[in-house]
Amino acid sequence: MNKRQLDKYAELLIKIGINLQKGEHLVISSPILASDLVKCAVKQAYKCGASNVTVLWNDDEIAKLGYKYRSKKSLAEIPEWAIMQREYFIDKKICYLGISASDPEAFKGIKPEKLAISRRASGLAFKKFHDYTSSNKIRWALGAYPNKAWAKKMFPNLPSNLAIKKLWDYIAKTVRLDEDDPIKAWKEHQDRIVNRCKILNQANIKSFRYTNSLGTDLTVGMPNGYIFCGGAEEGALDGVPFTANIPTEEVFSCPHRSMVDGKVYSSMPLCVNGNIVDEFWIEFKEGRIIDYGARIGYDNLKDIIETDDGSHYLGEIALVGYNSPIRNLNTLFYKTLFDENASCHFAIGACYPTCVEGGGEMTAEELLEKGLNDSLEHVDFMVGTKDLSITAQTHDGKSIVIFKDGDWAF
Ligand code: ZN
Ligand code: ZN
Repeated sequence: MNKRQLDKYAELLIKIGINLQKGEHLVISSPILASDLVKCAVKQAYKCGASNVTVLWNDDEIAKLGYKYRSKKSLAEIPEWAIMQREYFIDKKICYLGISASDPEAFKGIKPEKLAISRRASGLAFKKFHDYTSSNKIRWALGAYPNKAWAKKMFPNLPSNLAIKKLWDYIAKTVRLDEDDPIKAWKEHQDRIVNRCKILNQANIKSFRYTNSLGTDLTVGMPNGYIFCGGAEEGALDGVPFTANIPTEEVFSCPHRSMVDGKVYSSMPLCVNGNIVDEFWIEFKEGRIIDYGARIGYDNLKDIIETDDGSHYLGEIALVGYNSPIRNLNTLFYKTLFDENASCHFAIGACYPTCVEGGGEMTAEELLEKGLNDSLEHVDFMVGTKDLSITAQTHDGKSIVIFKDGDWAF
């Protein structure tokens, strides 16, 4: 990506992603290798009137050394200062931009148990901050940055420099940087998504039924007062819309945690904490996962599902047409930010509370009573195929075709 495109990408992340307002404090969390994009983003943020920009750097190699040499006891302890830092961010209502450049297999060779201990500890310690972002009490966005390992994973037959260049081209396409006016193109794209949300939100849907030739036959019930979101997060509690994921193609909500029945097959590999889970299936009864299997990465799938009670239930239902710009590239990105936008998906674990009327203001107990799931996990897995059909049953007995041959019926 040349300097001009980097600037455009940074502009997109700050203006469409965060929608940064004058006087706001922006925190950027990024790997060291993405420093050129971060510098462009910092400049954009100040141009938009940021009062302060703080950058928190991270690095996969350093993290891996920690996983390798630290004891399980040490990995289970999160230092007080790190927790206080998140508290400070919450108090100051900062905006948060995360840049992800991680190697999909960065932690290969590390015992899944150590990764699980660390994930659980940080999940618990930073739960409040996570709850703040997921219920849109602060505005946040995610961007991506290629690295050698990621690019080589996607394009193993190309030399590193060409693989990185190709990955940048792909990112540019998925975030619409190839359009003359990317900001305008984004606004039009968001309008289309918002319109689909409106249709689903007015339909008073009781449940969806998913079927395809892989063997998926799953019924997913919806809670009363469900809200499908997408495009821009209108639900930001400060009233300023933002776009958490760039790219985004999905229209999503939360299912009723105890109204999911049947079996669902994955349609793409799942990459979680540098590990691949592939060709897996999950069976549900009254919402709870009662059985599962995977041809590749069974133990990693097990670690996700066995995290806590809530990781035995679904927390997200997301609809993505088969003809999305990401799917049309016909390449696996090994990164959820992209791959989830290539396919209809569900998430195991926590819901987004704003996906139900008044949810952003509800306590965990109230959300649970509504049928909304909570967990330390939130792991998306893809289920969309070219022949997926989805029909909805409404509370007044109507049947509506939502997806036909893998794509939107409207
Ligand atoms: Zn999603
Ligand atoms: Zn998700």
